[in-house]
Amino acid sequence: MLQVKNLTFSYQKTPVLKAISFEVKPGENLAITGESGSGKSTLLKLIFGEFDIDEGNIFWKDHEILGPKYNLVVGYEFMKYVSQEFDLMPFITVAENIGKHLSNFFPEEKKERTEELLNVVELTEFANVKVKTLSGGQKQRVALARALAKQPEIILLDEPFSHIDNFKKQSLRRSVFKYLKEKNITCIVATHDKEDVLGFADTMIVLNNNEIAVNDSPKRLYSNPKTPLIASFFGEFNVINGGIIYAHQLKIVEHSNLKATVIKSYFKGHYYLIEADLNGGKVFVEHPERMENRRSVYLSI
Ligand code: ADP
Ligand code: MG
Repeated sequence: MLQVKNLTFSYQKTPVLKAISFEVKPGENLAITGESGSGKSTLLKLIFGEFDIDEGNIFWKDHEILGPKYNLVVGYEFMKYVSQEFDLMPFITVAENIGKHLSNFFPEEKKERTEELLNVVELTEFANVKVKTLSGGQKQRVALARALAKQPEIILLDEPFSHIDNFKKQSLRRSVFKYLKEKNITCIVATHDKEDVLGFADTMIVLNNNEIAVNDSPKRLYSNPKTPLIASFFGEFNVINGGIIYAHQLKIVEHSNLKATVIKSYFKGHYYLIEADLNGGKVFVEHPERMENRRSVYLSI
């Protein structure tokens, strides 16, 4: 189990994290979310032992994770970290990068393992291509596979699919998270993308104002977002009479006591997002068709 207890950290004078505590059980997937600059990457780096913490402790099972003050080399065998700036070896091939830390004493095993991981990150046909010729998204996939090569007990992923195009992203996400669950690898993923969380994370933390705003299952947070910050992570929403209502929970009806005026319709694929004025404030509603600007509509929750 990973235990983060009362963790406090500042860069020079800037406080970033204050009294952060949480636990992750073996094999679980925890998502750390929050706005840009909320401290997601810093938290992952602290868990990895990259910095000395000001207060608190971090434990993986019985090991206390200590910073560079106490360790000659940052990092532990049981933990891998894929940063936002994946540093690969550009002049060797994809397969060589992935197998970099695998023993040459067992060439057959090394080859099989590399092939298995190429398959997980969907790069089989790039095995013998030099990394320097790859796109940002392909490099990100090589970094993922390399981190998995020696089967860590826990993996820290910092926005792991951020450079990957939409054509590949969905299937790659499924493949990677499925692999981690199958191998019972504990995973902590920092992300601002709800698609990385819904359907994959067991628990989700939202960082705000240097603290943990909430720590709960994505399903519960989605179904009952207690604050606009939580709702905004999942999609367009409105605050009506003090309640948080997602755009898809609001309907355009024949008649109601909520009369609004259409400002603009945005094409979203299987629906239109209608922006409207309700008593001087903006509301967002999902609707199957485009609505004429300045038209009056009635809304129902
Ligand atoms: P996130 O990953 O959520 O975007 P970060 O952990 O990267 O957030 O950053 C949190 C805060 O710490 C930001 O205000 C950022 O500017 C600051 N910060 C990040 N790295 C450093 C650093 N090496 N030195 C000083 N300040 C930093
Ligand atoms: Mg970050």
